[in-house]
Amino acid sequence: MAVKRKPRQQSQQRSLSLFLRILCPLCGACHFETTEKYDADKMPHPGMIKMLAKYKGYGWPEPPQDDSAGYGCLECLDCGNALAPNGKLKVGK
Ligand SMILES: [Zn+2]
Repeated sequence: MAVKRKPRQQSQQRSLSLFLRILCPLCGACHFETTEKYDADKMPHPGMIKMLAKYKGYGWPEPPQDDSAGYGCLECLDCGNALAPNGKLKVGK
C-alpha cells in the first residue's frame, strides 16, 4: 500500500543577512539596520546604518552616508532619541 507522502515543503528561504536591526534604546522602534561598515567595536557613524526598505517612501530622510559624521546625528525617527547615546548602537534581530 502506497503511503501518501506529503509534498515536500519548500524550505523557506531564510534571510541570511548579516545585518542587524538597530533598535531605539528609548522606545524600541526599529527603522534601521546595520550596513557592512558596522563594527561594534568602533564608534557608530551614519555610514553604519541604513533605513529598512519598508520605511523608504515615508519621506523620512535617509541617514547621510558620511563616515566622518558623528553618532550624535543618529536619531530615532519616532521619538527623536539618540540611537547611540553612549556611542553604542543597540542592535537586535
Ligand atoms: Zn525611539
